[in-house]
Amino acid sequence: MYELLESRFSLKKKVLVVDDEEINRIMLTSIVGQEYEVLTACNGKEAWDVINSNKDTLSLVLLDLLMPELDGYELLSMMQKDLDINKIPVIVLTADTTAEVKSLNMGASDFIPKPYDVPEVILARIKKTIKLSENTSILSATQYDVLTGLFNREFFIEYAGVIDQYYPDADMDVIAVNFNRFHSINELYGRKFGDELLNITGAVIKAFVSDKRGIGCRYGADLFYVYVSHGNSIDLYKEISAKLQDKIENAGSRIRVGIYPVADRTLEINKRLDCALLACNSVRGNYREPVAFYNSRMHEEEAFAERIMNDLDRALAEKQFVVYYQPKLAIQNGDPYLSSAEALIRWEHPELGMVSPGRFIPVFEENGLIKRLDRYMWKEAARQVSIWKDKYGATIPVSVNVSRIDMLEDGFTSEILDVCEEAGISPEGYMLEVTESAYTDNSAKLIEIVESLRNLGFKIEMDDFGSGYSSLNMLSEMPVDILKLDMKFIRNIHTSSKDLRMVELVIDIARYLELTVVAEGVENKEQFDLLKDAGVDVIQGYYFSKPVPPQEFETFIDKYRRV
Ligand code: C2E
Ligand code: CA
Ligand code: CA
Repeated sequence: MYELLESRFSLKKKVLVVDDEEINRIMLTSIVGQEYEVLTACNGKEAWDVINSNKDTLSLVLLDLLMPELDGYELLSMMQKDLDINKIPVIVLTADTTAEVKSLNMGASDFIPKPYDVPEVILARIKKTIKLSENTSILSATQYDVLTGLFNREFFIEYAGVIDQYYPDADMDVIAVNFNRFHSINELYGRKFGDELLNITGAVIKAFVSDKRGIGCRYGADLFYVYVSHGNSIDLYKEISAKLQDKIENAGSRIRVGIYPVADRTLEINKRLDCALLACNSVRGNYREPVAFYNSRMHEEEAFAERIMNDLDRALAEKQFVVYYQPKLAIQNGDPYLSSAEALIRWEHPELGMVSPGRFIPVFEENGLIKRLDRYMWKEAARQVSIWKDKYGATIPVSVNVSRIDMLEDGFTSEILDVCEEAGISPEGYMLEVTESAYTDNSAKLIEIVESLRNLGFKIEMDDFGSGYSSLNMLSEMPVDILKLDMKFIRNIHTSSKDLRMVELVIDIARYLELTVVAEGVENKEQFDLLKDAGVDVIQGYYFSKPVPPQEFETFIDKYRRV
């Protein structure tokens, strides 16, 4: 049954020789021992004990029929009655041809006549019988996942159990591999493309485990597990992403990996898999650190993610989500004045209190629920622009954050347009912030969508610029209006000359491309002054205000509106 493990772990199958005559035991042991691990017993009673303590690993019993204490027939019938044991094939050793038929009828698989034949014949019969029994035991289920050729879930678990049995003291790692936003890959690029990614992943895993002593499976959908000798498990991430990089970066996905190193063998295997999966899910949507090692705190995180997924419906129905606004001030023409606001979602959870979007957005992005949330946000923000327009007689533009999943969806452009029309506002009052990583997809489709949005009058802002994945040259192809510098540059700008130079560089580029530059996360006067001198057009950050509810925002309108 365990051919693959046998070769990979150099396991020998076990064969039990039962004979009351020592000379026979010695002869058979020397023949069978060439290829198998041999256990011996000198009567039926002893054999029964050996069988019971090896029932999960015993491949075959060679059984003499005539013995004292408990004879071969009695043992055979005891074996047949035990559901765990009756799968183990028995070859009967006998000189009496009439006994052959009887024993075959009692469940024996084959017989070897005494006196013993040439050793090759005996070995061949044993091999054939073992193989036959293995084939029948797996006939009911296929071992392999059709798409990737890795083990399927059931067999993976079973084989992991075998490894545990044979190597109770070996250090083993459990690795979970999963894709970020796989469902949207399938949606946007088709199942065939999705299958191709899974296929490549399977091939890398296969090579990895055969190299490093282990086994791998596709557990379901886009989730893979590996059970492997402890070592450089992190290499698996490197190897898979090297193979997938071009393909999935373009599709806006990446893999994430969770490693449970030197897994606790006292936990049942499913629990050990769970731990690796927890680690894997802890870096869900995190493109900067896609690999995590399990630690016990992760159980709480997961419980939280599950909780908020369950709560989403009710939260939308009960309007637990509210929109806060953070002012963006133009600073280059005299006194700072209000240029626009960013709409940021807040969740006032009845039991958990205020939940930060940093905690729930990645969860909802992963499972596609973000679409519903964003739609709700867009409407709310548009409604607010219209309220302020009525109240102040002028438009205060508001920007909303758009997940890349939204943008590539069919009908996105007309949906946004509808939102504005329903609220009675024009696209000039509505800006879309798209995070930089979304643009790593340089696909014609994204460019086309952004272009059509701009033609309709929407302003497009590239959020988190410089956070990692964009290359500068893509800027020339990607039509945007505004660059928003990633906060991490601003944080150290007053202490790190390198970060300041980076900001200056981006401003040069922005000037050349005639783009507006926004700096967010500005918290103090030092940062403000440096950014102003560097030529940043617009400032957003705690220095002026945190995101606040609409009513409170109106005090800024009164204070900073240029009339
Ligand atoms: P982001 O778009 O980069 O938003 C800026 C984040 O920085 C906001 O966090 C804001 O509160 C925070 N921030 C503003 N000024 C300062 C400052 O001076 N110092 C510091 N330390 N932080 C500042 P928030 O509101 O927690 O949002 C986190 C992220 O969640 C956002 O990052 C955005 O990516 C996402 N997000 C928020 N609302 C939505 C939404 O409606 N839809 C989608 N898809 N994503 C959203
Ligand atoms: Ca933003
Ligand atoms: Ca940002």
